[in-house]
Amino acid sequence: MTTEVVPCPRCNGTKFMYRGYQEKTEHGRRAMYPYALPCYCELNRIISKQFGMLSQVPVATPEDSEKIHARYHSNGKNKGNYIFLGEESLFFYVVKCYFLNGITHKNYLILEGVNIVDKYNTVKPDGSRLTVGALDQYDMLAILFTSKGEPPTLKACVAEVLKNRQRLGKATWIYAPSKERLESCREISGDSKPYLDDYSTVQLKLDNTFNGYTLDVSDKQKMKSIRKIQDDLGSLGASL
Ligand SMILES: [Zn+2]
Repeated sequence: MTTEVVPCPRCNGTKFMYRGYQEKTEHGRRAMYPYALPCYCELNRIISKQFGMLSQVPVATPEDSEKIHARYHSNGKNKGNYIFLGEESLFFYVVKCYFLNGITHKNYLILEGVNIVDKYNTVKPDGSRLTVGALDQYDMLAILFTSKGEPPTLKACVAEVLKNRQRLGKATWIYAPSKERLESCREISGDSKPYLDDYSTVQLKLDNTFNGYTLDVSDKQKMKSIRKIQDDLGSLGASL
């Protein structure tokens, strides 16, 4: 990774891209106003700050983001539900690219299965029982089925999340390092399996060519140490 500060080639360091003029009403006057949108460099910064897991993967490029949205968008047949298998850092890059499109106005979240229990398993307003309904709000939710611990409610919570999201037709991505690891993961149970039947499985490969994705050995080592720190922090997680 480069340490010298080179201004972003697209915005020349201004962090914004001017997109022409837009008709707006300000103080009761209608007129054409110049408007700007955050540049992808700034969006990458926002994503990395908000999601610690995605901070160490390369900068998501608009080209890769477009490619990934075209490839994994939801359509009539597929509700945008995928199971990704393969290199974890490549999955993180794909998620970062997906988040790049819409991060300013959509709700996205990536978390590990066990975090559903840690952070989102709350009592319903009427006090009746635990619910993970707070996760319904996310337009896209990426869950890593890589939990090492297994709180007693993990399997039930995951099943509820998958059920709710299927009912709402909201895109959900699942990640596991391999098919074997998916089958032996702590998140899946008989209750959640039927929901996963409709998911498309994607084997991530390093030869899937994404412009922005490069990974050298030192980055791989960094990823490993980051994962370790995240594991050590456990439920402390990354607060926003
Ligand atoms: Zn820029």
